[in-house]
Amino acid sequence: MPMRFYQLQRPAPSTPRHWSGNISAEHSWSLPGVECPTCHETWSGEFTLPSVDLSSLPERDLLAEPRVEPYSEYARIAAHVQPFLPSGLAPEPGMQFGPLRGTARESFGPLSARYGWEVLVTQDALRHLQAVGIRGLVPVRAELQGLEAGVVLYELEVPLRGLLHREAVLTGPQCPTCGWCEVRISPEPSLDGDALPHDVDLFRPTNGTTYTFVNERFVEAIEPLGPFDVTFREADVRPESRSGSVH
Ligand SMILES: [Zn+2]
Repeated sequence: MPMRFYQLQRPAPSTPRHWSGNISAEHSWSLPGVECPTCHETWSGEFTLPSVDLSSLPERDLLAEPRVEPYSEYARIAAHVQPFLPSGLAPEPGMQFGPLRGTARESFGPLSARYGWEVLVTQDALRHLQAVGIRGLVPVRAELQGLEAGVVLYELEVPLRGLLHREAVLTGPQCPTCGWCEVRISPEPSLDGDALPHDVDLFRPTNGTTYTFVNERFVEAIEPLGPFDVTFREADVRPESRSGSVH
Protein backbone atom coordinates (compact mmCIF):
# COMPACT_ATOMS: atom_id res chain seq x y z
CA MET A 1 0.00 0.00 0.00
CA PRO A 2 1.42 3.41 -0.89
CA MET A 3 1.74 5.94 1.94
CA ARG A 4 -1.27 8.23 2.33
CA PHE A 5 -0.85 11.99 2.71
CA TYR A 6 -3.13 14.52 4.35
CA GLN A 7 -3.49 18.29 4.28
CA LEU A 8 -3.64 19.68 7.79
CA GLN A 9 -6.52 22.15 7.99
CA ARG A 10 -8.44 24.19 10.47
CA PRO A 11 -12.08 23.12 10.77
CA ALA A 12 -14.76 25.25 9.11
CA PRO A 13 -15.70 28.31 11.21
CA SER A 14 -19.18 26.86 11.78
CA THR A 15 -17.79 23.70 13.43
CA PRO A 16 -18.06 23.65 17.24
CA ARG A 17 -14.64 23.80 18.87
CA HIS A 18 -13.24 21.24 21.31
CA TRP A 19 -10.81 23.73 22.83
CA SER A 20 -11.27 27.37 23.81
CA GLY A 21 -7.63 28.45 23.65
CA ASN A 22 -6.47 31.40 21.62
CA ILE A 23 -3.17 33.14 21.14
CA SER A 24 -2.22 36.74 20.61
CA ALA A 25 1.44 36.52 19.66
CA GLU A 26 3.98 37.26 16.95
CA HIS A 27 7.32 35.74 16.07
CA SER A 28 10.22 37.50 17.72
CA TRP A 29 11.67 39.08 14.57
CA SER A 30 10.42 39.76 11.06
CA LEU A 31 11.70 41.21 7.84
CA PRO A 32 9.70 44.23 6.70
CA GLY A 33 7.19 43.94 3.92
CA VAL A 34 8.25 45.64 0.71
CA GLU A 35 7.08 48.45 -1.53
CA CYS A 36 8.53 47.66 -4.92
CA PRO A 37 9.52 50.32 -7.47
CA THR A 38 9.45 47.79 -10.32
CA CYS A 39 6.13 45.97 -9.97
CA HIS A 40 4.49 48.57 -7.67
CA GLU A 41 3.23 45.84 -5.35
CA THR A 42 3.29 46.27 -1.58
CA TRP A 43 3.50 42.84 -0.07
CA SER A 44 4.73 40.59 2.63
CA GLY A 45 4.77 36.79 2.71
CA GLU A 46 3.89 34.44 5.54
CA PHE A 47 6.99 32.31 5.67
CA THR A 48 8.03 31.47 9.24
CA LEU A 49 11.25 29.97 10.58
CA PRO A 50 10.76 29.79 14.37
CA SER A 51 14.07 27.95 14.88
CA VAL A 52 16.14 30.79 13.40
CA ASP A 53 17.56 32.76 16.34
CA LEU A 54 18.53 36.34 15.48
CA SER A 55 19.30 37.41 19.06
CA SER A 56 23.02 37.71 18.21
CA LEU A 57 22.41 39.85 15.10
CA PRO A 58 23.61 43.41 15.84
CA GLU A 59 20.89 44.81 13.55
CA ARG A 60 18.10 42.83 15.24
CA ASP A 61 16.28 46.00 16.31
CA LEU A 62 15.51 46.61 12.63
CA LEU A 63 13.49 43.38 12.74
CA ALA A 64 11.44 44.13 15.84
CA GLU A 65 8.50 46.03 14.33
CA PRO A 66 6.45 44.58 11.46
CA ARG A 67 6.20 47.30 8.81
CA VAL A 68 6.64 48.06 5.12
CA GLU A 69 9.85 49.57 3.68
CA PRO A 70 10.91 50.68 0.21
CA TYR A 71 12.70 47.88 -1.64
CA SER A 72 16.22 49.32 -1.17
CA GLU A 73 15.87 49.44 2.62
CA TYR A 74 14.25 46.01 2.70
CA ALA A 75 17.18 44.57 0.71
CA ARG A 76 19.71 46.15 3.08
CA ILE A 77 18.04 44.51 6.10
CA ALA A 78 17.53 41.19 4.30
CA ALA A 79 21.27 40.98 3.58
CA HIS A 80 21.96 40.95 7.35
CA VAL A 81 19.59 38.02 7.81
CA GLN A 82 20.74 35.88 4.88
CA PRO A 83 23.67 34.22 6.75
CA PHE A 84 21.25 32.94 9.43
CA LEU A 85 18.97 31.13 6.98
CA PRO A 86 19.21 27.44 6.12
CA SER A 87 21.37 27.00 3.02
CA GLY A 88 19.49 27.38 -0.24
CA LEU A 89 16.76 29.53 1.29
CA ALA A 90 16.50 33.19 0.27
CA PRO A 91 15.02 35.92 2.48
CA GLU A 92 11.49 37.01 1.59
CA PRO A 93 9.54 40.15 2.57
CA GLY A 94 7.64 39.57 5.80
CA MET A 95 9.64 36.43 6.70
CA GLN A 96 9.34 35.71 10.44
CA PHE A 97 11.92 34.26 12.81
CA GLY A 98 12.28 33.07 16.38
CA PRO A 99 9.78 31.82 18.92
CA LEU A 100 6.23 33.13 19.20
CA ARG A 101 5.99 35.79 21.92
CA GLY A 102 2.79 37.08 23.39
CA THR A 103 -0.18 35.94 25.41
CA ALA A 104 -2.45 32.93 25.45
CA ARG A 105 -5.84 32.39 27.01
CA GLU A 106 -7.86 29.35 28.09
CA SER A 107 -7.14 25.74 27.18
CA PHE A 108 -5.33 24.12 24.26
CA GLY A 109 -5.65 20.68 22.73
CA PRO A 110 -2.66 18.45 22.01
CA LEU A 111 -2.46 19.76 18.42
CA SER A 112 -3.68 23.10 17.11
CA ALA A 113 -3.12 25.34 14.10
CA ARG A 114 -3.47 29.11 14.39
CA TYR A 115 -3.30 29.39 10.63
CA GLY A 116 -2.93 26.49 8.23
CA TRP A 117 0.82 26.85 8.52
CA GLU A 118 1.36 27.53 12.23
CA VAL A 119 1.27 24.18 13.99
CA LEU A 120 1.36 24.02 17.78
CA VAL A 121 1.59 21.00 20.07
CA THR A 122 1.54 20.64 23.83
CA GLN A 123 4.64 19.33 25.56
CA ASP A 124 2.90 16.01 26.25
CA ALA A 125 1.94 15.63 22.59
CA LEU A 126 5.47 16.50 21.48
CA ARG A 127 6.96 13.86 23.80
CA HIS A 128 4.54 11.30 22.39
CA LEU A 129 5.40 12.17 18.76
CA GLN A 130 9.11 11.95 19.59
CA ALA A 131 8.66 8.67 21.45
CA VAL A 132 6.94 6.98 18.50
CA GLY A 133 9.64 8.20 16.10
CA ILE A 134 7.84 10.89 14.07
CA ARG A 135 10.45 12.41 11.73
CA GLY A 136 10.95 16.08 10.85
CA LEU A 137 10.00 17.53 14.24
CA VAL A 138 11.65 20.91 14.85
CA PRO A 139 9.95 22.12 18.04
CA VAL A 140 10.40 25.70 19.23
CA ARG A 141 9.00 26.57 22.64
CA ALA A 142 6.46 29.40 22.37
CA GLU A 143 6.99 32.20 24.90
CA LEU A 144 3.41 32.78 26.00
CA GLN A 145 2.09 34.48 29.11
CA GLY A 146 -1.24 33.37 30.52
CA LEU A 147 -1.19 29.64 29.73
CA GLU A 148 -2.84 27.39 32.31
CA ALA A 149 -0.43 26.18 34.97
CA GLY A 150 1.82 23.40 33.70
CA VAL A 151 0.93 23.87 30.03
CA VAL A 152 3.78 24.43 27.58
CA LEU A 153 3.22 24.90 23.86
CA TYR A 154 5.73 24.24 21.11
CA GLU A 155 5.46 25.52 17.57
CA LEU A 156 6.61 22.94 15.03
CA GLU A 157 8.78 24.38 12.29
CA VAL A 158 7.55 22.35 9.34
CA PRO A 159 10.31 21.23 6.94
CA LEU A 160 10.15 22.39 3.30
CA ARG A 161 9.83 19.28 1.15
CA GLY A 162 7.89 18.00 -1.83
CA LEU A 163 5.70 19.83 -4.33
CA LEU A 164 2.06 20.55 -4.92
CA HIS A 165 1.05 18.99 -8.21
CA ARG A 166 1.69 21.56 -10.90
CA GLU A 167 -1.93 21.46 -12.06
CA ALA A 168 -2.93 22.80 -8.62
CA VAL A 169 -0.70 25.89 -8.91
CA LEU A 170 -1.00 28.79 -11.32
CA THR A 171 1.99 31.14 -11.20
CA GLY A 172 2.28 34.49 -12.96
CA PRO A 173 5.50 36.15 -14.10
CA GLN A 174 7.96 36.95 -11.31
CA CYS A 175 9.10 40.51 -10.54
CA PRO A 176 12.87 40.70 -11.19
CA THR A 177 13.37 43.09 -8.26
CA CYS A 178 11.34 41.84 -5.32
CA GLY A 179 10.35 38.35 -6.49
CA TRP A 180 6.62 38.96 -6.25
CA CYS A 181 4.40 36.86 -8.44
CA GLU A 182 0.73 36.09 -8.45
CA VAL A 183 0.13 32.54 -7.28
CA ARG A 184 -3.22 30.80 -7.29
CA ILE A 185 -3.51 27.44 -5.63
CA SER A 186 -6.60 25.26 -5.86
CA PRO A 187 -8.36 24.90 -2.48
CA GLU A 188 -7.77 21.16 -2.31
CA PRO A 189 -4.40 20.72 -4.01
CA SER A 190 -2.97 17.35 -4.90
CA LEU A 191 0.66 16.38 -4.39
CA ASP A 192 3.28 15.64 -7.03
CA GLY A 193 3.82 11.91 -6.66
CA ASP A 194 7.32 12.13 -8.14
CA ALA A 195 8.50 14.53 -5.41
CA LEU A 196 7.08 12.96 -2.23
CA PRO A 197 9.27 13.33 0.84
CA HIS A 198 10.23 10.03 2.41
CA ASP A 199 12.50 11.31 5.20
CA VAL A 200 9.95 13.38 7.17
CA ASP A 201 6.36 12.83 8.35
CA LEU A 202 5.24 16.45 8.04
CA PHE A 203 6.17 19.06 5.44
CA ARG A 204 5.37 22.27 3.58
CA PRO A 205 5.61 21.97 -0.22
CA THR A 206 8.22 24.30 -1.67
CA ASN A 207 5.68 25.70 -4.17
CA GLY A 208 2.94 26.16 -1.58
CA THR A 209 4.55 27.10 1.73
CA THR A 210 1.34 28.04 3.53
CA TYR A 211 0.06 24.46 3.15
CA THR A 212 0.98 21.84 5.71
CA PHE A 213 0.90 18.15 4.87
CA VAL A 214 1.42 15.10 7.05
CA ASN A 215 1.54 11.42 6.20
CA GLU A 216 -0.39 8.52 7.69
CA ARG A 217 2.38 7.85 10.21
CA PHE A 218 1.80 11.31 11.69
CA VAL A 219 -2.00 10.94 11.69
CA GLU A 220 -1.85 7.51 13.33
CA ALA A 221 0.51 8.86 15.97
CA ILE A 222 -1.51 11.95 16.89
CA GLU A 223 -5.07 10.65 16.57
CA PRO A 224 -5.18 8.73 19.87
CA LEU A 225 -4.39 12.03 21.67
CA GLY A 226 -7.49 13.79 20.29
CA PRO A 227 -9.86 15.44 20.05
CA PHE A 228 -8.34 18.58 18.57
CA ASP A 229 -9.44 21.46 16.36
CA VAL A 230 -7.48 20.31 13.34
CA THR A 231 -8.72 18.15 10.47
CA PHE A 232 -6.82 15.97 8.01
CA ARG A 233 -8.00 16.01 4.39
CA GLU A 234 -6.58 13.13 2.40
CA ALA A 235 -4.71 14.59 -0.57
CA ASP A 236 -4.58 13.02 -4.02
CA VAL A 237 -1.10 12.02 -5.07
CA ARG A 238 -0.57 12.10 -8.83
CA PRO A 239 2.57 11.46 -10.83
CA GLU A 240 3.81 14.58 -12.57
CA SER A 241 4.59 12.51 -15.67
CA ARG A 242 0.90 11.70 -16.19
CA SER A 243 -0.30 15.29 -15.98
CA GLY A 244 -0.94 15.34 -19.73
CA SER A 245 1.57 17.96 -20.78
CA VAL A 246 4.19 17.32 -23.42
CA HIS A 247 7.79 18.39 -22.96
ZN1 LIG B 1 8.50 43.85 -7.41
